[in-house]
Formats: sequence, structure tokens, C-alpha cells
Amino acid sequence: MRNSALPVDEGMVLQGIGVSPGIVIGKAVLLDRQRTRFVPHKIAARQVNSEITRFSESIKKSKKELQEIKDRILEKGFTQHSYILDVHLRLMEDRMLRDETIRMIEEDLVNTEWALDVTLDKISAAFDSIEDDYLRERKEDIKYVVERILRNLTGRELRRIEDLEDDIIVVAHDLSPADTIQLNLKRVVGFATDMGGRTSHTAIVARSLEIPAVVGLEDVTAYAGGMETIIIDGTEGVVIVEPSRATIKAYHLKQQHYRYLERELLKYSTLKAETQDGYHLALKANIEILDEIPHVRQYGAEGIGLYRTEYLYLNRRTLPTEEEHFQAYKKLAQEIAPYSATVRTLDLGGDKFVSHIDLAEEMNPAMGLRAIRFCIREKEIFKAQLRGILRASTYGNLTILFPMISGVEELLQAKAILEEAEEELMARGIPFDPEIPLGVMIEIPSAALTADILAREVDFFSIGTNDLIQYSLAIDRVNEHVSYLYEPLHPAILRTIKQVVDIAHDAEIEVGICGEMAADPLYTLIFLGLGLDELSMNAIAIPRVKKVLRCSTRGEGERLLKETLQLSTAKETELFIRGEMAELFPEDFIQCVE
Ligand code: PEP
Ligand code: MG
Repeated sequence: MRNSALPVDEGMVLQGIGVSPGIVIGKAVLLDRQRTRFVPHKIAARQVNSEITRFSESIKKSKKELQEIKDRILEKGFTQHSYILDVHLRLMEDRMLRDETIRMIEEDLVNTEWALDVTLDKISAAFDSIEDDYLRERKEDIKYVVERILRNLTGRELRRIEDLEDDIIVVAHDLSPADTIQLNLKRVVGFATDMGGRTSHTAIVARSLEIPAVVGLEDVTAYAGGMETIIIDGTEGVVIVEPSRATIKAYHLKQQHYRYLERELLKYSTLKAETQDGYHLALKANIEILDEIPHVRQYGAEGIGLYRTEYLYLNRRTLPTEEEHFQAYKKLAQEIAPYSATVRTLDLGGDKFVSHIDLAEEMNPAMGLRAIRFCIREKEIFKAQLRGILRASTYGNLTILFPMISGVEELLQAKAILEEAEEELMARGIPFDPEIPLGVMIEIPSAALTADILAREVDFFSIGTNDLIQYSLAIDRVNEHVSYLYEPLHPAILRTIKQVVDIAHDAEIEVGICGEMAADPLYTLIFLGLGLDELSMNAIAIPRVKKVLRCSTRGEGERLLKETLQLSTAKETELFIRGEMAELFPEDFIQCVE
């Protein structure tokens, strides 16, 4: 649907996809990724000195800005992030950058911007001829530094994540998951983007960090970003630019009501996740960073059902070492005890990239050399992580989960590498839990169809509905243009899940869901009917799901499931389930009519 950007009395109302609930009102700042534009022109000889002065002043200003950012970051204790700024500060002094730019101004009589740009090209070309990952990284740093100097030369403000002030709302064309993690460091209170879908990792991170967000707005950057007041309603997927005073007041009330409901729901956190007839369905949390653990406990999670470890690899310049892996998982195991935590091995690719791992540019990244495929190819990277998990396994209850398994051969290859990692630790005399449970994600249709074969090789299944839906229905999960086709209740999906659950139980292994579907209370009764052992979700969703669970019986779930499986379309299914849920829980679900 194209945006209905309506200039109404109460402001410009934009409809997108609400991906992280809550309401925030604040000033909009555009996060700009465009390269600075300038007009290249010749100068007269008498202008040379003033151009060189402009150049020096701009470097001085840029260095001052960087120093301020560095101080702010250090003040907040994020030492790990500050060294990148040291690199940039040093590059501001780079002899080649400085001397060559000045030489061009003097000899070729060109303006500073032009000279600087050409110098950057020359430096980049020099870097290109060297085959070295470290140096390739430095090229990106030089580009960054030149961009900052150029912005100061042209008088245009450069806003990058590290420049942002707290308590603002970020408006951007797109944000990567790595960007989103950094927004949290800056305590940005909300964001709105042109691109994105509900199960994109940017959306998932926003939910985990509890930053209200609306994505897929198509053109919010055309309307906001210049410090206008905007409202983000992440629950309804609405953004209002320059709202009237009356609208702001109404949203303040809505915000209070939302907070009240959240607080009320927290009462469920300490209660058991059990139906009225005593069926226990474990409700666990998905996390991306370890800082989330205290929140997770507050919402009553019975452990971590999915730790997306790829976030350990983001926002840094080098790969995490075995020791870093070990320390992270040890902390996880200790902080979540007595519960368990499932550590999913590196699931890179798709919409998650890191600059220091050289994934080839692919036509179709969701189906490329990613996740377990990448790990099997890059065995040493994989083994460093596996050894870290194994070493940490003696500090609590950890389980290992392999992502993106497409069939048993791939699983056996990954298991062989796990065995190698174990042997290496044994040779070093380092203890680990030899019985650490191993699971696979069922998120590719071929894995679902061969679940009986996979079940012989593992201790549990975790159904990743985000990707399972993407691959089964051929819908790119990050593409806002096809988000209307992303249908969790498509009969193909329900049938697949049922089949996988039945196979797991026949094989006497446990099975859970860790995709975003698990978090939607609309489906809780269906999952109950299916007999799932575990649901893992963003922690904030746990109380709501628990409420449904505690007010129901297993029999109700089985009945609802049976009737649902007779229906032929996702739409019909949704209307039916909504109707039933609205009858059972009139306060929480709204009945829909077609
Ligand atoms: C999934 O695919 O459902 C899943 C949980 O993994 P991710 O969202 O990280 O791909
Ligand atoms: Mg997945």
C-alpha cells in the first residue's frame, strides 16, 4: 500500500508497519547516509591561501567534533566503541591526505572539496591494489574522515549515529541491525524508516530494546527529519508529523494508558506459564545482547530460548576471539541460572552483515552463502565460537542451536566440526559438558520435510517461523512491498508446523518456536493445541502470552486447532481465530468483520 500521507489538521499522518510497540513523542532527526555533494570549480591563484585555511579549519572542526563524541562515549563507559574514534582522529592527521590535497589546491588551482575528493580517490585506488583485510578496513575509515571534513567544508551537518543526542526520534531511509543496536547506546527513544518489514532484524532488535518503531513507511524521510515534532505509535504503525496540540494531548493519554496496561500485565511475570488444567508451556526470551538479561527476568522468562550471537560480531573491527566468546556465554549461563540458555551459532547474512567478514555480494543474500553454510566453509571462525560455548557450558545450562540447516548432510558436517572443537579442548585439558544438548532450527522447508531424519541427530528442534514463512511463501521478510503476503496463518505454515511438532514428539525430542509468531497472543491457543514444548519471544511479549495461557485449557487449544486446520486461506483463518479469541478474551482481542 502506498502511503496515505494526509496533511490533515492534526498533522501529516503516515501509515507503516508498527514493529515495536509503544508511543513516543519527540523531535525528528534525519540520519543521512548520502555522500556530500559539492560543486567542483577552479580557483584564482590569489585564492589558494584562503582555500588552504578553509581546509585546515575544517580539519580542526572535524577533530573537535570527533573528540567530543569520543568523550561522550567514554563518559557512558563504552570504551570498546571509542577506539574507532581514535583511529579517525589519527587519520585526520594523515600526511598523504593533507599534503596531496594542498598540493592540488596550489598546483591545479581547484577548490578544496574537489582536491580532497580526488585525493580520496587516489588513496582508495592505492588501497584497492593491496590484498589485505585490515587495510581494506582502513579505506572505509579514510572515506568516513573525508566525508566529515567535506561536510564541514560545505557547511552541511553530518549526522551519524555516534553524533546523535539522546531523546530524539531517528528518521531514516533504512537502518541496519547494527545501527539499531547503536541507537540504543545513544538512548534514541524511537525510530521511523522508509524501508523494512515486521520480521526484519532491525524490527526484532527494536522490540528487544523496547524502542517504539514504525518501518515500511516508504517516504517518511520526505516529510520528517528536520527537528519537527513527531509522534511514533509503534503499536498501531502510525507516524504523525507536526501534530496539533490536541493530537499531542490525545497521544499523551494513549501513552499513559499503554504504560498502565504494560504495568498491569507485569503481574503475570511471577506466575507460572500453565493452563488451567496444568499444561506447562515454557515461555522463554529471545535476546540479541547480554544487557537484555535483567529485563528478560523482569518479564518472567524461563530462560533464553534464542541468543542471536551474530550481534557479538557487529559494531566492531575484528572477529571475536575464543576467549571473548567464552566470556560472553559464561556470563549468559551464570546470569540466567537456574534456567537454561540456547546459544545459536553465527547466523550471518540475509539482512545481517558485518564489515570485517567478507561475505560475497550476492544477488539473493537470503539464499546465499550465509549462516551455517558460511560457518562450514570458514571452519576456524566457527570453531572459535564452538570452543567458547563448550568452555562456558560448565558454568550453567547451555544448549547449542545450529541455524539454517537445510538437510542432514549439512547437519552432519556441522556436527563433525563441533566434535573437532571438543577434541581441541580435550587436547588442551579444558573441561566442557560433553552432554551439551544440540538442536537445529527448522526454518527451511527442506528441513521441515526431512525433520524425521534430522530428529535422529539432535536433542531438540526450534522452529524459526520468520525464515520458514519467508522461504515457504517466497516472501522476502525485509521487503515492505510484499509484506502483505507475509502470512503466518497460511495453511502451508500451520501444516508445516504441525508436521514438525508431531515428528519431534514421535522421536521423543522437544520442539519450540522462536520466530516472531511465538510472541503474538493471537496464536497462543493454536500453539497450545499443537502441543509445543516451548515458545521463545521478545521478553516484553511474555506477560501477554502468559495471560492467554493461564486463562485457557489444553482442550480449548486442541479444539481451536482442529477447526483452524479445516480452513483454506490465511484470511479466513485469521478471522476465525480472532473471532474465537475475542469471545474468550473480550478485553484483549477485537472481533473483526470483513
Ligand atoms: C527465525 O528465522 O524465525 C528466527 C528466529 O531466526 P532469525 O529471525 O534470527 O532469522
Ligand atoms: Mg532465521
